[in-house]
Amino acid sequence: SILLGTPVPAPRRRASRPLMIGSVPVGGDAAVSVQSMTTTLTSDIDATLRQIAELTAAGCQIVRVAVPSQDDADALPVIAAKSQIPVIADIHFQPRYVFAAIDAGCAAVRVNPGNIKKFDDRVAEIAAAAAAAGTPIRIGVNAGSLDQRLLAKHGSATPEALVESALWECSLFEEHGFRDLKISVKHHDPLVMVSAYRLLARRCDYPLHLGVTEAGPLLQGTVKSAVAFGILLNEGIGDTIRVSLSAPPVEEVKVGAQILESLGLRPRRLEIVSCPSCGRAQVDVYTLAEKVTAAFEDFPIPLRVAVMGCVVNGPGEAREADLGVSSGNGKGQIFVRGEVVKTVPESAIVETLLEEALRLTEHMTADGK
Ligand code: SF4
Repeated sequence: SILLGTPVPAPRRRASRPLMIGSVPVGGDAAVSVQSMTTTLTSDIDATLRQIAELTAAGCQIVRVAVPSQDDADALPVIAAKSQIPVIADIHFQPRYVFAAIDAGCAAVRVNPGNIKKFDDRVAEIAAAAAAAGTPIRIGVNAGSLDQRLLAKHGSATPEALVESALWECSLFEEHGFRDLKISVKHHDPLVMVSAYRLLARRCDYPLHLGVTEAGPLLQGTVKSAVAFGILLNEGIGDTIRVSLSAPPVEEVKVGAQILESLGLRPRRLEIVSCPSCGRAQVDVYTLAEKVTAAFEDFPIPLRVAVMGCVVNGPGEAREADLGVSSGNGKGQIFVRGEVVKTVPESAIVETLLEEALRLTEHMTADGK
């Protein structure tokens, strides 16, 4: 917002070892990054690069691609070279694809210890290849594919079991002097997931990748992820995030960005302060808020825009925003930086807000603000 910053400081981050995922710094002082994962067949290079471009445009900073077959591994050199953002190769079952991904120039490789047969025997070679190429490894432990030995020991995918699995794999790499590791310990239950990451955060200083796995469709997945990430990030835990949704991955990126914005971990781009409407509303607030959101979504400067249904709280909230409308009697009072600048018919509210926003931008450019 031009007028107002967040009056509460952003959470203090846990100190973690810095590493680079391609061009993106992770851990240390680096800002929390948003990741997503493609849903295309990785072997379909054009479709995968198209989706990566869409994700990049939506604000995705790191993208993961699945590598379940040799055809997918063969596609990695082109994808890694042409992607606008760093590519992490996601490898299950086949250690040889790890070498293929490192050779292909992927920015990192994610391995799932529970799913890579004979993984432990190959760690020395993987560590040597990754170290030579400067490629970090993400140890991605997942409740659904936890190592059988640990499942037997703990009875289920408890936080302790997830953390033990992750740290065991880390120790194998550490034996070979390799520490460019990032860890995730995902679970579908946000509370188990939070406990696991808290435990992990106390036991190591590796950067952590947050995820509630199989979080569900858009609404449920958003809520689960926002709750879990909100708790952890507010405690300083978490260096990269992925919101897993049964929905197009662009939605994951939008939700991830909004979670970071809501926690003050990333500057807000657009904040719509809109009322829920009630029996006093004198305008269709839902439709108006949607239209205003759509009109401002790609606006080049961060703005807080208030959309209020009536004159009870309307003028107050509208005054606190960069721009606002307080509706009443088929008309909208347009506020700019706290001042009523005009009253327009309901049908002209959105275009007037946009005009005023552009005028505000010109002023800012002229003032050098
Ligand atoms: Fe109701 Fe007016 Fe408040 Fe909106 S601003 S919730 S319409 S009282």
